[in-house]
Amino acid sequence: MVHPVYADLPTTIFEVMSGLARETGAINLGQGFPEEPGPEALRRRAALESVDGYNQYPPMRGLPALRQAVADHYAAWQGLDLTAEEITITSGATEALAAAFLSLISPGDEVVLFQPLYDSYLPMVRRSGGVPRLARLDPPHFRITREMLEGLFTANTRVVVLNNPVNPAAVVFSDEELALLAEYCVRHDVIAICDEVWEQIVFDGCRFRSMMSVPGMRERTVKIGSAGKMFAMTGWKVGFLCAAPALTKALAGAHQFLTFTTAPNLQAAYAWGLANCADWFEAMPADLQRSRDRMAGALEAAGFRVLPASGSYFLLVDLAASGVSEDDRAFCLRAVKDHGVAAIPVSAFYEQDAPTSLIRLCFAKRDETLDAGVARLAAARAARS
Ligand code: PMP
Ligand code: GLN
Repeated sequence: MVHPVYADLPTTIFEVMSGLARETGAINLGQGFPEEPGPEALRRRAALESVDGYNQYPPMRGLPALRQAVADHYAAWQGLDLTAEEITITSGATEALAAAFLSLISPGDEVVLFQPLYDSYLPMVRRSGGVPRLARLDPPHFRITREMLEGLFTANTRVVVLNNPVNPAAVVFSDEELALLAEYCVRHDVIAICDEVWEQIVFDGCRFRSMMSVPGMRERTVKIGSAGKMFAMTGWKVGFLCAAPALTKALAGAHQFLTFTTAPNLQAAYAWGLANCADWFEAMPADLQRSRDRMAGALEAAGFRVLPASGSYFLLVDLAASGVSEDDRAFCLRAVKDHGVAAIPVSAFYEQDAPTSLIRLCFAKRDETLDAGVARLAAARAARS
């Protein structure tokens, strides 16, 4: 007998769509990964570390140099006062999330989450014994409101999970929304697990604010980051858990029996990168913003209705408003099988009451890929509108 959480768990939509794209040779605008290979200096550094560096088990909580570099980076970019002792290095944000859920949720604890939600959250919350309490953020702006929070938090609420910027909604929460959620966390003595992996990818002059910097939240926030997102190299799978010492002790306890540690050559390269790639952090969002605008412009010219996007490298398209009379899954399957372009149906990010006419497109691609991808989407639209 397998555990009930896994008995009927479908394969994640990202793998399904990438698998179909591999099979059919489609342009993959589905799973979020950049087409460019990432900063060359950093890749050379990792090669050097692999050849001349240390390749045995690094310390369980991560290389001291990387933990310090993460703390310094967040001090410079987000004004946080983290120490290296408050950082645990994980094998990607996915492992960081799992460690946070396993160590902070006890059976029966209520866990507040917002739909749309990243697809690892609910299975891991349930596997940890948590009871999900779901709120729903509505397109096109996906805002958090007081009415939504009232009644959602109870005496049994132990954890809230917040993804900001939001995948797939591509919105960044305002200071007011963060303060509102913080008010409920403090009032109900709740820990916030904050998945901030898209923190470095915000547009239009918007400044990202970590939940950890909101008054009252320093000691009750678990901040999760991903070097894969920061440096546009998703395959390296190095993540960070940042939290006050009492929480870090529990988080590290879970981490030590999930993966224990992560590749030392990559950790060393990222430590170097965080200290030496300030220009990358300026250039990357500006480049991505140009790609966002190129793709949005091409989509609109082709008759698609695009939702506003201020963070992450995703754009949402409203199929119904674009004249497509098909739901998101049917459209995405037809687009990848018949028209050579993969996208993600947004209903995959909801457990209940999913909108069924939104698709997510990744624009971290070369111009020619974006143009060809949009042309193929236009052909898929023309075939059914
Ligand atoms: N959380 C969110 C919201 C994500 O979008 C992703 C990956 N795109 C992850 C977690 C996982 O990050 P990692 O690849 O570092 O495990
Ligand atoms: N987070 C990536 C996305 O949203 C996918 C990561 C994965 O496939 N595990 O596309």
